[in-house]
Amino acid sequence: MEDFTSRFVEGFMGEVIARNPGESEFHQAVRAVAESVAPYIVENPHLMDAKILERLAEPERIIIFRVPWTDDRGEVHINRGFRVQNSSAIGPYKGGLRFHPSVNLSIMKFLAFEQTFKNALTTLPMGGAKGGSDFNPRGKSDAEVMRFCQSFMTELYRHIGADTDIPAGDIGVGGREIGYLFGQYKRIKDQFTGTLTGKGLNWGGSIFRPEATGYGLCYFALKMLEGRGESFEGKKVNISGAGNVAQYAAQKAMRLGAKVQTLSDSDGFVFDPDGLTEEKMQYVFRLKNIRRGRIKEYVQEYPSAQYFPGERPWKIPCDIALPCATQNEIEPADAENIVKGGAILLAEGANMPTTPEAVKIILAGGLLYAPGKASNAGGVAVSGLEMSQNSMRTSWTADEVDSMLRRIMSDIHASCVKYGTLPDGSIDYVLGANTAGFIKVADAMIDQGLV
Ligand code: NDP
Repeated sequence: MEDFTSRFVEGFMGEVIARNPGESEFHQAVRAVAESVAPYIVENPHLMDAKILERLAEPERIIIFRVPWTDDRGEVHINRGFRVQNSSAIGPYKGGLRFHPSVNLSIMKFLAFEQTFKNALTTLPMGGAKGGSDFNPRGKSDAEVMRFCQSFMTELYRHIGADTDIPAGDIGVGGREIGYLFGQYKRIKDQFTGTLTGKGLNWGGSIFRPEATGYGLCYFALKMLEGRGESFEGKKVNISGAGNVAQYAAQKAMRLGAKVQTLSDSDGFVFDPDGLTEEKMQYVFRLKNIRRGRIKEYVQEYPSAQYFPGERPWKIPCDIALPCATQNEIEPADAENIVKGGAILLAEGANMPTTPEAVKIILAGGLLYAPGKASNAGGVAVSGLEMSQNSMRTSWTADEVDSMLRRIMSDIHASCVKYGTLPDGSIDYVLGANTAGFIKVADAMIDQGLV
């Protein structure tokens, strides 16, 4: 980076860190974007004068609220709810809700910031937001989850709406939670609108929304592979996580001809040297989505697989790594294992799963690397399609939604190539994704004046 540009980044980051002390995930996400877009800002001084990056790093609105609820024994619990509305420059706020004990303001702000650029990349008119709570759904009964969701929505409802802010799912928030949240929203507002996405199929949801992030991740990775004359055929794929994104990434990778070797949760990972099959995937869907069991149970059903408690899947050699669990789950030692294992591609299904030091190791190892804001945008893209279907009171078929998803992932890939191709012909997907997303949002902000 040129001297002036790097001084701009350091000066800007100094202010971000001073204004948001202790929010390490937020600093990490902002720095990654600032480093990518600084040269463009320096070349376009009107963006610097309008302080576009500074404005984007200050959410338009943050709502923090108390969420009281009672468990099945009548004991009172208090959780904290969040909604970070980062940017409405290109459309109403849009982004998921996360229920996980690790949730805090830094994590909410990093996710809302990332979502702003991701949503811009999808080409659909959606601003960026994120929300959630430090509530842990693990081990809770359906009735407890329902009471929590109802209490959460009893405050959140006044800040959202079909043309204002449209939440969706994320870690710990799937179809069950969206159902309870929507039910309470509808009851309070007396309106059946498309205010949440990820709804059930027979009450306004889009077919293919559960599949969208994982499938979209594989469509994006396939585009990257094709650029090198490769495909998924015969490749060994390691996946972390065993939730929504991981399950459908595994199914699609397998259907594209890959051998999917691993799945994980926060307790450990399973390694199946024979690879997943359609039948094994059905078992995983039942285990995780109906019985709400743990991934270690997989080895009781398929004893040729091994369970590694307390470990992550990256020590198993693979060709393709698809982290689909959580932020900062690939640290430098994991990245070294991935490189040593001979991998050629890492595409992020989770948001910011690779630490900045680990990204450096991955790139130095010659791997193709896609940041989540590009490669996992399929979920929010199909949420955008769900919003359109709700507004038009219509529903599209699975084939229609799948082909729109493929086109959107291909367009995002093309944007990364357009803005991320380096003089030597290689593609810097981080540079491409950040720059393409930033330009769209920045231009809209300039058009709309200082708001
Ligand atoms: P789920 O709740 O369905 O699954 C999350 C999975 O990740 C679970 O297996 C969970 O294990 C594991 N996990 C969560 N936290 C940790 C941790 N600290 N360490 C190890 N494993 C962990 O969530 P999703 O599949 O929806 O989301 C996964 C990732 O994908 C997140 O980063 C999310 O932001 C991102 N994403 C999701 C989208 C979507 O459409 N759902 C869209 C775009 C991105 P355990 O059960 O033990 O907690």
